[in-house]
Amino acid sequence: MTDIKPNLIAGAWSTGVGAIENYNPSNLTDLVGLYAQASVQELDTAVEAAQVAQVEWAAYGLERKQAVLNAIGNEMMARAEELGTLLSREEGKPLAEGKGEVYRAGQFFTYYAAEVLRQLGQNAQSVRPGVDIDIRREPVGTVAVISPWNFPTATASWKIAPALAYGNAVIWKPANATPASAQALAEIIARQDIPKGLFSLVMGAGSDVGQKLVEHRGINAISFTGSVPVGRGIAQAAVGNFTKLQMEMGSKNALAVMDDGDLDLAVAVALGGAFGGTGQKCTASSRLVVHQAVHDAFVEKLVAGAKAMKVGHALEEGTQIGPVVSEAQLKENLAWVAKGRAEGAELACGGEEVERATKGYYMTPGVFLNTTNTMEINREELFAPLTAVIKVGSYDEALHTVNDTRFGLTAGIVTRSLARASDFRARARSGCVMVNLATAGTDYHVPFGGRGESSYGPREQGSAAAEFYTTVKTAYISAGLPE
Ligand code: NDP
Repeated sequence: MTDIKPNLIAGAWSTGVGAIENYNPSNLTDLVGLYAQASVQELDTAVEAAQVAQVEWAAYGLERKQAVLNAIGNEMMARAEELGTLLSREEGKPLAEGKGEVYRAGQFFTYYAAEVLRQLGQNAQSVRPGVDIDIRREPVGTVAVISPWNFPTATASWKIAPALAYGNAVIWKPANATPASAQALAEIIARQDIPKGLFSLVMGAGSDVGQKLVEHRGINAISFTGSVPVGRGIAQAAVGNFTKLQMEMGSKNALAVMDDGDLDLAVAVALGGAFGGTGQKCTASSRLVVHQAVHDAFVEKLVAGAKAMKVGHALEEGTQIGPVVSEAQLKENLAWVAKGRAEGAELACGGEEVERATKGYYMTPGVFLNTTNTMEINREELFAPLTAVIKVGSYDEALHTVNDTRFGLTAGIVTRSLARASDFRARARSGCVMVNLATAGTDYHVPFGGRGESSYGPREQGSAAAEFYTTVKTAYISAGLPE
């Protein structure tokens, strides 16, 4: 009998109301574990305890808070191999990406440990004589963190670390597809010098415990990463309670490949951007907007590169593309392949379910050619190892095509022209712009977020996160005259 891995409710481990089975998408006979599902009553208990603990935590000295965040980050970095293996085993990304993600997640904690000491206020003169003004930031209170499965450790960490650094309590609802990574991180946080109940883990179904969490009147702020439809529902619940909200959702990122660019570099960044993480990234290069002068040469190398990529078990040496996360996602991906063909796109390679030594959700990387930006495969987020080439006749047409989307997270260009790179940086309508780099891959100390349907609310990461995790207090002080 496998033990049920518990939730953390108000400082106590709890096996809740039943459990889910978590299977390895690279090997469907490998049970990663059983994971508890929180009840609605436990959610109430967690929120009540968080409200009390938050006051105590906010009053901790700066260095005491900093030490907690450093300890979490350092342990994650030290255990990146072990925790990265667990992540890759349950999510399916190649081991190097799993280890890299855990290490990066640790860096979010050590970065925000330093930010604890960098919280400076402002002061101003009043328009009234004898009055001074000071402006400082205070914690928002209790933050609900709702995270996705595609970066189960990093996304949660770039929310939990600033939430704690700026003095808040956290209730974390991770994706039910990746509970093992969540449980491992919760176990590290629970061991720290924090008030009982400051941090709770409420694994459970999004439609049940997730929905109740976002509707909870005891929650002061919600940080969500996931799909647009779920985000829309969360926004409605948040507005009903006037809860502060930050959301990162889907995208349809484009990489423009110019006739003056380094072709080999363009192919390398396109392959990495399109197929890294099995294409299951909100920053994935899912539209490749290619200048007609280099189109044929680019496509030849791109298709050869995609065909050469090794699809396999996430933990196997040499695997470049792991399985997709679930059966539902695989079915959806294959339906997109059929839809693309029906729309008139030519599938140059891949896009097929394949078998490996162990039964899993394996799919070869697919490249669509002869596509137009009006096709549905170029309008909707696919979250699949699929990318589509759109041929354009000029830089202006490329820029227009890149911007012709209702999303706007990242946009990239491969060019040797400083003029085009500068113009693209200024006119691409996205939150992040990449020049001669893949659309995926960002740093942790600078803002991350997008426009349109990609994001809502203040930016995440870097010191920009303070905007969301704090609230501003303006104090007017009339000290009077000395006696
Ligand atoms: P969801 O938006 O359904 O899930 C994201 C998170 O929200 C999960 O923790 C989920 O829990 C939770 N959730 C689901 N419903 C609710 C709700 N009503 N209230 C509160 N929380 C909720 O994404 P999926 O995992 O289903 O992925 C579907 C698609 O979304 C992908 O194919 C992709 O297109 C997009 N996506 C985009 C991501 C990004 O990084 N921008 C990340 C993940 C997905 P649970 O897991 O228990 O359902």
